[in-house]
Amino acid sequence: MLIVQNGYECDYEMKLFYKLFFGEEEDVSVYSNFEYKEKNINVYTEIIYGTKVYFDDFNYSFDDENKDKRIIKKIFTAACTKSFCHAAKKIKNINLPWGVMCGIRPAKIVRVLMEEGKGEEDIKYILKDIYEVSDEKISLAMEVAKNEKKLIESIGKNSISIYIGIPFCPTRCLYCSFVSTDIRVSGKYIDEFVKKLLSEIDKTAEVVKKLGMYVENIYIGGGTPTTLDEKYLSMIFKKINEKFDLNKIKEFTLEAGRPDTITEEKLKAAKTGGVNRISINPQTMNIETLKKIGRQHTPEMIRECFEKARKIGFDNINADLIAGLPDETPDMFKYSLDEVIKLDPENITVHCMAVKRAASFRLKGGELTEAEYMNEMLLYTQKSMKDTKRKPYYMYRQKNISGNLENVGYSKEGYMSTYNVNIMEEKQTIIALGGGGSTKLVMGDRIERIFNFKDPAEYIKRFDEILEKKDEIIKLLGG
Ligand code: SF4
Repeated sequence: MLIVQNGYECDYEMKLFYKLFFGEEEDVSVYSNFEYKEKNINVYTEIIYGTKVYFDDFNYSFDDENKDKRIIKKIFTAACTKSFCHAAKKIKNINLPWGVMCGIRPAKIVRVLMEEGKGEEDIKYILKDIYEVSDEKISLAMEVAKNEKKLIESIGKNSISIYIGIPFCPTRCLYCSFVSTDIRVSGKYIDEFVKKLLSEIDKTAEVVKKLGMYVENIYIGGGTPTTLDEKYLSMIFKKINEKFDLNKIKEFTLEAGRPDTITEEKLKAAKTGGVNRISINPQTMNIETLKKIGRQHTPEMIRECFEKARKIGFDNINADLIAGLPDETPDMFKYSLDEVIKLDPENITVHCMAVKRAASFRLKGGELTEAEYMNEMLLYTQKSMKDTKRKPYYMYRQKNISGNLENVGYSKEGYMSTYNVNIMEEKQTIIALGGGGSTKLVMGDRIERIFNFKDPAEYIKRFDEILEKKDEIIKLLGG
């Protein structure tokens, strides 16, 4: 890969779009020349692809007078990436539904524009004209921005969220990029890990009390928390109930992600412990794919878990699906989504397959899905969710997703998760406990992060440091 930019440089963004068109093995050189004269931007891009040359000559009228430096930078960057994509599309007809919009939170851009007082038509114009976003994605981003705005406004003053990371899973999935360890290797640490975690809850409760704050949301994630036995889960729930005032709790979520770890006893312990939202994650309802990605459950087990959870009284269930799993066609994905809809979860979250290292993923037998198919799956999701009265309310993008596409949480009215929006929009302090979580201290526009150790062995060994870090929270937030 060779990218040379004259006049204006946006190396990060150029590389991002380059990777959407070209593989590492391809012989490609890119030269671009940027000029801003008499309120006109001109970008000339030339791509040498093998023995052929493709070019684009892009012009855009833009008046930089009285414009913020950051806005000017964004416009210049959009002009360069647009010119590059226009030239690259002459080589490969790759559809970019998000146009040249970068960043992990497209809805945030829309919400900020709304807060600046821009009307819907102006926002649509910016997305379409400057970023070349498709109509479907514009309507998605607008809807997400409106819904998340309502949730952000409902965050209580002096409230915080608590995240508890349980970094254990029964086995490791093919595509995993989360903080997790396979209990066949790390199971020996579980007992000590839980003991330390209980002490960390004690310490955190003291910190929250000293700060005069209260807990609005609790999220137990991982890993797969239900990998722990019912005995350990009950100890954690008991401690949470003893130490925190749960009267003001809005959401208490337990990721019961993998159906092979869910039992009636664990669900009952969660219900008694105050959990009011759980996640049961099929990822796909196709048995062949489940085997390929290293999951040990069957679609039937998903249905049984839903039945058990409903019987025990859970009335807020989320189900995660992944679009673009190895060898899945759009029809296979549509089948999974239709089957999940039949289970009637209040929330459905559709992630796009993201693979950090595509080469090693291929070596393990995986093949990345074409962006065009991925987008077909997502458009089907958008339509099905609308038909079943579920609204999109949080959205983020990750690196290494085919076609630069998005992950979206959909919810029935009244079941949207404020915690999920917090994670994306960073409007409420989140104190993280356990393995791999990161505390985010929100102080107006400033955010301080404190990281917990990812590995259970390190968490145990360096636990004193974890407690010291909790004291830092008082220093930072207590002024
Ligand atoms: S269940 Fe989730 S955290 Fe656990 S290995 Fe699979 S992808 Fe990773």
